[in-house]
Amino acid sequence: MATVTFDLIKDKERFEQIILALNRGQRFVLTCHIRPDGDAIGSMLALGIALLQNDKEVVFYTEDPIPANLTFLPESSTIIHEMPENLSESTLCILDCNEPKRIGSLGERMVEEADSIIVLDHHLDNDHFSNMEKSVAYIDPDLFAVGALVMLLLQEMEWPINEAIATSLYTAIITDTGAFRHSNTTAAAFHMASQLVEAGADPYFISNRLYQSYPERRIHLLGLVLRTLELFSHGKIALLQATPDMFRVTGAKAEDTEDFVGFARCIDTVEVAVFLREVHAGHVNVSLRSKEFVNVAEIAKTFGGGGHFHAAGFTATGNMVDIKEAILKELKERYGEFR
Ligand code: 5GP
Ligand code: MN
Repeated sequence: MATVTFDLIKDKERFEQIILALNRGQRFVLTCHIRPDGDAIGSMLALGIALLQNDKEVVFYTEDPIPANLTFLPESSTIIHEMPENLSESTLCILDCNEPKRIGSLGERMVEEADSIIVLDHHLDNDHFSNMEKSVAYIDPDLFAVGALVMLLLQEMEWPINEAIATSLYTAIITDTGAFRHSNTTAAAFHMASQLVEAGADPYFISNRLYQSYPERRIHLLGLVLRTLELFSHGKIALLQATPDMFRVTGAKAEDTEDFVGFARCIDTVEVAVFLREVHAGHVNVSLRSKEFVNVAEIAKTFGGGGHFHAAGFTATGNMVDIKEAILKELKERYGEFR
């Protein structure tokens, strides 16, 4: 078999600038997007653990708590949720996110106060950092996970990938490729995952924690949510919703709905899946997924959100019925009746 070579780094100069900034900094505050997932937290912890091994000072910050199925990640218990101190003497590393407000309510203040900024991301670039002198951003929407970018940086710098780092990076890759099912799954994704298993990541342990360790209340909520299934446009659009009542009755929390949208997408006729989550009346979080031709990032953008071509989301205030209709209208305007 031929030697496997991948050229994942398109902008070598930018990549080198990130390496310089990582080497130069002494104090780092690492953060990622609100409602963090396995790639956000996994890539953040992996980079942070590597920095710690290089005798750097590291603080991990997320606005929201760590979902229960990710608390197995090494160092996750050290993540803080209040404003980090001494930002003016720190390099702020933003992972899996390229918008200050997606860090959370403190995001803009943190960006302002930080001494310097590194952005590592794979969402569509919103140009928030391109003209900011103190920042250097590596953003490539073609990368399957930010964890992959972190891994390439560590390999280039020859910073060793120990078991803790491998576990975090493997989790990042598994999460963002949907366990190698999404359209972003490439030979490089398998190759890097294989290297991480060799470095100590335990696939069965990680999959068990990610996908087979949910609280019972999630399944009770899922039962109620599945009954809301609606199909539109000849079965091409599927919609599921979770109402405040459903959360109240089951005792479930917002984080217990991770990947519910996948149940709408898995129907054979479906191209676009929509999951609407209303934990508190009037605040609706929307997850959008597509299988082939619908660019849900564009749909999300029209509602002030964003994401990737096949996976995106936004938050809206208002009535669930109105939001639902606005999404259907937007989809039909862009794609007709999907015939
Ligand atoms: P999820 O549906 O799992 O919450 O999000 C799917 C994808 O869309 C993720 O990559 C997530 O980061 C992105 N996303 C979700 N909500 C928003 C949003 O309000 N703004 C932006 N820019 N991206 C979002
Ligand atoms: Mn990601």
